[in-house]
Amino acid sequence: MSDIDDGLHTPVDATRGIGTPPVDALRAAGTVGAPAGGPAFDSDHPPRADLVSDCVHCGFCLTTCPTYVLWGEEMDSPRGRIHLIGQGLSGEPLSDSMVTHFDRCLGCMACVTACPSGVRYDRLIEDTRAQVERRHPRTARERALRTAIFALFPYPQRLRLLRGPLRAYQISGLQRLVARSGLLQRLAPTLATLESLAPRLRGVPRPPARVRARGTRRAVVGMLTGCVQSAFFPDVNSATVRVLAAEGCEVLIPPGQGCCGALSVHNGRRAEAQRFARKLIDTFERCGMDWFVVNAAGCGSSLKEYDELLADDPVYAERAAAFTAKVRDLSELLTELGPVARRHPLPLTVAYHDACHLGHAQGVRAQPRALLRGIPGLELRAIADPEICCGSAGVWNVLNPVPAAELGDRKAKAVLATGADLLVTANPGCLMQVAAAVRRRGASIALAHTAQVLDASIRNLGAAALLDRD
Ligand code: SF4
Ligand code: SF4
Repeated sequence: MSDIDDGLHTPVDATRGIGTPPVDALRAAGTVGAPAGGPAFDSDHPPRADLVSDCVHCGFCLTTCPTYVLWGEEMDSPRGRIHLIGQGLSGEPLSDSMVTHFDRCLGCMACVTACPSGVRYDRLIEDTRAQVERRHPRTARERALRTAIFALFPYPQRLRLLRGPLRAYQISGLQRLVARSGLLQRLAPTLATLESLAPRLRGVPRPPARVRARGTRRAVVGMLTGCVQSAFFPDVNSATVRVLAAEGCEVLIPPGQGCCGALSVHNGRRAEAQRFARKLIDTFERCGMDWFVVNAAGCGSSLKEYDELLADDPVYAERAAAFTAKVRDLSELLTELGPVARRHPLPLTVAYHDACHLGHAQGVRAQPRALLRGIPGLELRAIADPEICCGSAGVWNVLNPVPAAELGDRKAKAVLATGADLLVTANPGCLMQVAAAVRRRGASIALAHTAQVLDASIRNLGAAALLDRD
């Protein structure tokens, strides 16, 4: 078990759980409201009792749960959280302690993969989180942090405004000075976490709104550019477009497409997520696309659930279902289409990391591996404990920096133990999280998205193009 000091909470007694704010003190200070006397959940999409009762308490999920692995606390396991949800459904109020255990869940869905009884923990925690966000009074500090996060991350234009100053900060040497001084960590730990996660930025032109297929056109594909992906990993989007075009896809990339709502829905902000989803459907359903392709795991998992997110919307329910049916992760679509572009050799050893929202949430594990194995000279190496999250989990690493760093360190250790030249994954959050953890260890490993590896192979760029990118 490890103590948590996330820079936001003061550790208190074990009965309330590690890292729980001293609620009585906060209440005295007027930053937390009195606990609601009524039951934890209202009638607006409460977690479903039948899903809770599917859990037979076998405990098979426990060892795959990152918070249980870190702290060994039953209430920080999937089984414990399901028990708490059951208590809420039986009329218990939504206590601060309950909310702490729900908040600590990374939403990695490793428990869904592990559960032999098919318990839909994903549904349970999503409905629970929406109730918590609407009904639980948070401290002023928590509110301010969440407000800042959700005013920034789902807005690619705002994120892009950060690129210039961030790039200047990185290349001026100021970043190294600040890191060496440790000042930022002491004064503003949340900012220090964000700063440590920021990738090395490169100038890459934005892809045009339409890119023709090379050779015979096999499909018309709409493409999500994403928020963090488009602001911080534009080279991943460029590689994705080139690979799709090389495989015979005409790619449609309407500008101003905005956020898919993944971050919002995963954090209980359902109404906000619905607004984003409606806008994205409006943008793409006029395009005449056969498929909608996504290269970020977190986005893909929520796009595949638009039908459920908008099921009660009389205007959008059917349109959302039609949209959902077209959503494919890049690796799924390329596997379904089959390769036509020639693969050139890449003599590389590659550790492939399953992003939780690709592996656990979408069940997409075989396709990216098959695509990578299809490259001559490329050797895949397995990472130990692949089911355990790297600690990124959307904005979980910003809200919970200390345990997130611990999970990142574990993942970095497992990745480096493979001895691979290159770490490949399909989620910008994982790339940033593992890169930061590798840097903390004073080590280095090249990182790339699956699309970039395929692109380098198809364009015959050689291994150096992937290994010497910094
Ligand atoms: S989603 Fe992940 S962190 Fe949450 S209970 Fe399941 S395994 Fe644990
Ligand atoms: S969630 Fe599934 S694996 Fe975990 S205790 Fe319940 S039935 Fe067992």
